[in-house]
Amino acid sequence: MKHRNKIEYGDEGFYVMRLQLMLNTILGKYIAQDGKFGPMTADLVHQFQRTNGLKTNLRLMYGDLQMISRIARERFLVALDAGHGGYDKIAQKYTSAPSKMMFHEGMEFHDGGWFYEGVENRIIADEVYERLKQEGVNVVKTYDDVEDTSLTARTNLISSYVQKGYFGLMASVHSNAISLDYSKQKLEDTQGFCVYTSKGSTMSDEVAEKHFDLTEEMFPEWRMRFDIVDGDHDYEADFHMLLLVEKLHGRFVAFLQEFGFHTSSVDTNFIISQREKRIQILTETILWYRDKILTW
Ligand SMILES: [Zn+2]
Repeated sequence: MKHRNKIEYGDEGFYVMRLQLMLNTILGKYIAQDGKFGPMTADLVHQFQRTNGLKTNLRLMYGDLQMISRIARERFLVALDAGHGGYDKIAQKYTSAPSKMMFHEGMEFHDGGWFYEGVENRIIADEVYERLKQEGVNVVKTYDDVEDTSLTARTNLISSYVQKGYFGLMASVHSNAISLDYSKQKLEDTQGFCVYTSKGSTMSDEVAEKHFDLTEEMFPEWRMRFDIVDGDHDYEADFHMLLLVEKLHGRFVAFLQEFGFHTSSVDTNFIISQREKRIQILTETILWYRDKILTW
């Protein structure tokens, strides 16, 4: 990444977009984040300077940029979303049952031979949450430990943080499935990784691409999927969530990870045995985005 020492009136590019995003967030404004330093951005810059007792000026030097990102860093928030429900220990029941689960004969997963997607998603998201905390990142869980809360409840939570003056990233953690109507062979053979973003956001696309690349590097032997040519997919609802998050005035980017197919016993074993690496890749993707936005 090219480093910036100054930004001035008339400039165009990704770094201007970052400036607009940070100043919008800090000042509670909603100007277009179009990457063009025109009159609207000039107003924003002046307002920032006045608020902070600085001389008004349309050439931001390195020290000014550092000051802006230092303030913005406090407002950077990661929303972690573990798909579906968790395990109710009192009722001894997986709350998304009978969906988002798969039985694999002779294997030991969450409850005998069952793989519960929501339970696994929580194991991963909970640990990413801890690692981000250790890195000093503001982080919030959109999911309940037990209940399968609605997608609206999840996005409303993020929306409430936008209103409080935060910006950032949402990462949604899932594994994939195809219809059980397929043959045993097809269920077994449908394996691999993919990542989704909603259409039309370059920033989200870049984050997803980074996530994809890190995953491919970590698991060179695994099947990396670019599309969903195989059978059914159960993520329309989750796409809905990506769309809603991105509508939050461009304050949040979002991606959704489908880490393996739990309808395949081989992939399910992989999901369970590669937790640590999966956690690392998620954490690294998120920190990469934070630094991409905040570092000049
Ligand atoms: Zn899912």
